[in-house]
Amino acid sequence: MKMKDKGNILDLEAEVIYNGLCCYCGTCGAFCKEYISFEQERPVTRKKCYEIHGACYDFCPRTFFAPFEVERAVFGAVRRDNLLGYYATEEDIFTARATDETVRARGQDGGVVSALLGFLLERGELDAAVVSKKSEEGEGEGEGEGTGEGTGEGTGEGTGEGAGVWEAEPFVATTKEEVLAGAGSKYTQCPSVLGVGDALERGYKKVALVGLPCHIQGMRKVQLSRGFDVGAERVKLCVGLFCTETLEMPRLKAKLAELGTRIEEVEKFNIKKGKFIVQTQEGKELKTPIKKLRDCVREACDYCYDFAAEFADLSVGSIGSELGWSTVIVRSEPGREAVKQAEEAGILETARLSEEQLEAVRGLASFKKQGNLKSIYEKAERVRIMNLEVEPERLGKFFGVGGEKKEKKEKRGERKWR
Ligand SMILES: Cc1cc2nc3c(=O)[nH]c(=O)nc-3n(C[C@H](O)[C@H](O)[C@H](O)COP(=O)(O)OP(=O)(O)OC[C@H]3O[C@@H](n4cnc5c(N)ncnc54)[C@H](O)[C@@H]3O)c2cc1C
Ligand code: SF4
Ligand code: SF4
Ligand code: SF4
Repeated sequence: MKMKDKGNILDLEAEVIYNGLCCYCGTCGAFCKEYISFEQERPVTRKKCYEIHGACYDFCPRTFFAPFEVERAVFGAVRRDNLLGYYATEEDIFTARATDETVRARGQDGGVVSALLGFLLERGELDAAVVSKKSEEGEGEGEGEGTGEGTGEGTGEGTGEGAGVWEAEPFVATTKEEVLAGAGSKYTQCPSVLGVGDALERGYKKVALVGLPCHIQGMRKVQLSRGFDVGAERVKLCVGLFCTETLEMPRLKAKLAELGTRIEEVEKFNIKKGKFIVQTQEGKELKTPIKKLRDCVREACDYCYDFAAEFADLSVGSIGSELGWSTVIVRSEPGREAVKQAEEAGILETARLSEEQLEAVRGLASFKKQGNLKSIYEKAERVRIMNLEVEPERLGKFFGVGGEKKEKKEKRGERKWR
């Protein structure tokens, strides 16, 4: 399937949605609710659209994505570390946690994301933060036509299906308490960028988005689009989460049944040291090797080449940090300023990561990238450069002239690619 740099909803369907590439990030529908809605974790068209060049195609992170162009535009420079993406120096990678114990208790790891967003909202640096909330039983039932008026009301965009328990839904939080209500990781996918559409529609001017690498990629495409302006300069901060994969809800439910529980009985999910851990409301802890959840993973995640939310202002994950702490990578000035203010106000405490801990972060990024490269090559078409057509996996080899020169440059301490 040839990918283009312009297309419409039919191209989006053919190249992404029916081609196993859709990661259910919500970006395509966020700014076109008239035509696009979501059912069973996929975009569907509400009515026939005759546009030739569509924002949905332009914004989707899975139609085309130019990593170095985005880095130049967002960070003003390109990466030296191909495993973790752009950051200025290794001092920008550290471990952190919320100083407030109640935030830590609600957060997935160190509660860093929730503490930071709550603080920035209270300070007036932000007026809205799009987080992901788990639905409660019965929530979202009905026709799914809500308007989402008012603040902190979720997206108001029911799927028309009725979301079950633990379905991850975008939520526009405007207070610290609302941010905390969304704390914790949901390991199923959330169409978070839909929440950005809502926040902008409601007129917020200083918006933050918390999202997985694919959400952040979608958001950057919206911000940097040359063809469509939806006011995305009002998104001031993108907080990314590390991500290896997400699970499809129907398959996750079947897996939970095998483990002897039901989604309605789950208190918290966690992934630690290769184990998927389910804490039930009754206080039981069920564990299974994460590789046994292989058949629950969304196909689109097999083609994902971003572990560390490489295009976010700052990225947060658990790998590399002690229990109850989070690993943070600060990438941009807005990211740096947010962390600095929170640290100075005593909201966050930070510490250095050891070499060994840093290697653990790189190790997991490498594991994901290496593993997915095979699926990417299998799916990809030959690459055409001028008249030359080359299999993608042979590109490096074919154009690998000048290796010696590059090596010399590296020795002189210039840009180094890992
Ligand atoms: C699907 C998924 C996969 C992950 N995989 C890894 C991994 O392989 N390795 C690793 O080191 N870390 C991974 N993480 C990150 C880790 O689980 C924590 O989110 C991170 O350490 C931040 O912890 P915290 O206590 O600071 O965040 P918290 O204060 O708990 O805040 C987390 C924020 O993330 C939002 N959120 C939760 N789930 C989702 C979702 N599905 N989509 C969008 N936003 C969401 C919440 O609304 C909240 O705002 C993953 C997270 C998710 C959601
Ligand atoms: S109106 Fe534009 S964004 Fe909406 S479906 Fe049509 S092409 Fe896509
Ligand atoms: S924008 Fe996101 S939800 Fe829409 S088709 Fe692309 S990957 Fe899927
Ligand atoms: S693996 Fe990639 S595509 Fe899948 S949820 Fe994570 S960031 Fe999105």
